[in-house]
Amino acid sequence: MKEMIALNQELAEKTGELEITVLNQWIREHHREKPLTYIIKTWGCQMNERDSEIMAGVVEECGYTRVDREEEADLIIYNTCLIRENAEMKVFGNLGQLKVLKRKNPKMRIALCGCMAQKEHIVAKLKKSYPHVDLVFGTHNIHELPALLLESYRDNRRQIHVLEDGVKTYQNLPSKRLYNFKGFVNIMFGCNNFCSYCVVPYTRGREQSRSKDEILAEVRGLAESGYQEITLLGQNVNSYGNDLESSVDFADLLEAIAVIEGIKRIRFMTSHPKDISRRLIDTMAKYPTICNQLHLPVQAGSNAILKKMNRKYTKESYIEMLNYAKASIPELTISTDLIVGFPGETEADFQETLAMVREAEYDFAFSYLYSPRAGTPAAIDPDQVPDDIKHHRFDRLMDTVNPIFLKKNQALIGRSQKVLVESVSKNDASILNGRTEGSKLIHFPGDSNLIGKIITVKVTKAQTFILFGEVE
Ligand code: SF4
Repeated sequence: MKEMIALNQELAEKTGELEITVLNQWIREHHREKPLTYIIKTWGCQMNERDSEIMAGVVEECGYTRVDREEEADLIIYNTCLIRENAEMKVFGNLGQLKVLKRKNPKMRIALCGCMAQKEHIVAKLKKSYPHVDLVFGTHNIHELPALLLESYRDNRRQIHVLEDGVKTYQNLPSKRLYNFKGFVNIMFGCNNFCSYCVVPYTRGREQSRSKDEILAEVRGLAESGYQEITLLGQNVNSYGNDLESSVDFADLLEAIAVIEGIKRIRFMTSHPKDISRRLIDTMAKYPTICNQLHLPVQAGSNAILKKMNRKYTKESYIEMLNYAKASIPELTISTDLIVGFPGETEADFQETLAMVREAEYDFAFSYLYSPRAGTPAAIDPDQVPDDIKHHRFDRLMDTVNPIFLKKNQALIGRSQKVLVESVSKNDASILNGRTEGSKLIHFPGDSNLIGKIITVKVTKAQTFILFGEVE
């Protein structure tokens, strides 16, 4: 019995449950007059958004109440991203402004977590120039948040906890999901690929797949709570299961999820082109619950640049797989990521990217100017492309892809689409926002009681990035 108690205690400590209880008690004792409040700002990918949902659940369980403005918060958490220089600069800019708020409310706690916290030079900069930041914790330390807060309140000293790598222990933590009809489900963490421009393998560590049973249990729980749509998340979902003892792969997992009663839409992100299999595409084609949407980041259309990026596929193999997917899945919506101005990119290489986007005919694309990320091989490549050339190429890329997006959207005019209604428009309370099965944003007049439902909307008008319609 004693051993059981010790084991339970160890597990609870590992997942942060014990600290949640202790912090909750501490807050109730020390803040009787007014409940503590929090706000979380999130930059970057859906993995970060999901981490923020977990942190929101943890701090609410500790006794904090959510507010919408930093001025009203006793705890501000910045969940950061390192993928682009822009996001990093914004975080530092915003952190600087928090100094004023902290002066007004010295009991305020300011925390920085996420990928930026994983980099030594950033932590050094925070230590030196941002003394008002109280907590710094990494992507592997989320379960420690209550303990770090408690220490910070008790000692009034800055807490910095960043693990280089670690087992994700937060599966058992509470979470406060942003929506009650669509949700993210992590299926794996980390990345083994080391694309030469990317910091993720350094900030999120090596790949760790969650067990199939654990994932299925989470999805069943969401189905029972009335969720309509789930998005399976991983940096490279196609290598799901490689690190597990059982011989399950992503296609197996997807198939098992596709038959769970209640979930009407399944999406997933992100698929690495080097690992996507025909079996996965066949599985997508087989089950109507798996959305006819594929995000397949190509990054560049030149084999020389793909090699320098360490992407491990060629433009030919990419197009072959894309054509197989288009032929297998009717009405497939395809999207991609593109990087312009990667070190060594010549005009001829760039022309190959333009040829690629014309051939692929993407429905939409996330396009970026290459920005060097400290610690990655591409950042120290002497062959950097000058800024003016990068910008000029980016403009030409936009001139090429935008008409393609518009043409694809215009092809939907007059057609009926199944739409998950997500929100009311910020600018007009009579207009609703929703997503088609292919994940296209659509605006249409309607009542807010439709939010969370899947309805049929007829497309009446199309712009480059938005559809407009009428409820049928
Ligand atoms: S696959 Fe490449 S781009 Fe994606 S997270 Fe891994 S290293 Fe980064």
